[in-house]
Amino acid sequence: AKRTRTGCAIYDVNFEAEAENHNRLSLTGELRQAIEENQLVLHYQPRLDLASGAITGVEALVRWQHPVRGFIPPDQFVPFAEQTGCIREITQWVAARAFAQCAQWHASGRALQVSINLSARDLLDPELPQRCAALLAGHGASPQWFLLEITERAIVDDPARAIETVTRLHEMGFRLSIDDFGTGYSSLAQLKRLPVAELKIDKNFVMDMARDADDMTIVRSVIDLAHNMGLSVVAEGVETDEARRLLYDMGCDHLQGYQICSPLPAAQLEQWLARTAALHGTTAKEA
Ligand code: C2E
Ligand code: MG
Ligand code: MG
Ligand code: MG
Repeated sequence: AKRTRTGCAIYDVNFEAEAENHNRLSLTGELRQAIEENQLVLHYQPRLDLASGAITGVEALVRWQHPVRGFIPPDQFVPFAEQTGCIREITQWVAARAFAQCAQWHASGRALQVSINLSARDLLDPELPQRCAALLAGHGASPQWFLLEITERAIVDDPARAIETVTRLHEMGFRLSIDDFGTGYSSLAQLKRLPVAELKIDKNFVMDMARDADDMTIVRSVIDLAHNMGLSVVAEGVETDEARRLLYDMGCDHLQGYQICSPLPAAQLEQWLARTAALHGTTAKEA
C-alpha cells in the first residue's frame, strides 16, 4: 500500500494484471456488485470562478470503497471498466448520484454547477442521451446545471458517432467540456464541429508551467484559443499560489486544484463552502 497526499492508504490493485490471471470475469462481477451494494462514492472538487472569486461549480469524481481492498481511486478501475463495457453501469450510477445531489443543493439554495466525466465508450452508446433524460426527470434535475466532460480520445475513436451523441446531449440542454485538453489527438477542425462550451487544460501542463517554459506557452495558448473560439477555459491541477497567480494574470476563467481544495465527500464539501464564504467573502481570488 502507498499513501496519497491526503494520507489515505491505497492498495495497488492492478486489475489489468489480475485480469490476465484469468479472473477478468470475477473482477467484472466485483464491479457490478460494487454498484449494487453501494460501494461507489462520489467526491466533489470545487472550481473557483476567477471573475467573481466564488465557487460556482464542482467536479464529481468517483471512488470505490471496497470492503476488503479498501479505498480504490478511479485510475485503478475506470480503465478496466471501459475495456469490459461495465463503464456503462458506472456512468449511469455516477449520473444518477450527481443529478440527485445537485437537485438537493439547488433545492437548498446552493446553485452549484456539477461536472460529470463521461468515458470515450459512453459516447458510442446511442441510448446514453435517453437514459440521461429519464434520470434527470427522476431526480427533478435540470440539464443546465451540468457540464459533461469528454476527452479528445472519445472523438478520435469514432468521430461521427461521438459527434452525434454529443450533439444530442447539447440539444437536451447539457453544457459540454473537453477534459485533459492538449493530451489527445483531436484536430481543431473536429473541435470546431463539437458544441462545446469549455476547454479544460490538462493538469500536467498546469503543474509544470512555473518551471517549464514550453508548458507555460501551451497553457497561455490554450487560454487564448478558447477565448478566440468563444469558449470558457478552466485549468486543473492548480497546486501552488504561484500557479494561481499566473493563471489569473493570463485571464483563465476557472481554477481547480489542491491549492483551492481537494475532492471531498458532499457533507465535507458543504462545510468547506460555508467556511470559505465566511473567510473570504467575495475576495477568494487573493488566495
Ligand atoms: P480528471 O477528470 O482529469 O480529474 C482530475 C483528477 O485530478 C482527479 O483525480 C483529481 O482528484 C485530481 N486532482 C485535482 N486537483 C489536483 C491537483 O492540484 N494536483 C493533482 N496532481 N491532481 C489533482 P481522480 O479523482 O483520481 O480521477 C482520475 C481520473 O479518473 C479523472 O481525471 C477521470 O478521467 C477519471 N474519473 C474520475 N471519476 C470518473 C467518473 O465518474 N467517470 C469516468 N468515466 N471517469 C472518472
Ligand atoms: Mg474530469
Ligand atoms: Mg480525465
Ligand atoms: Mg483532466
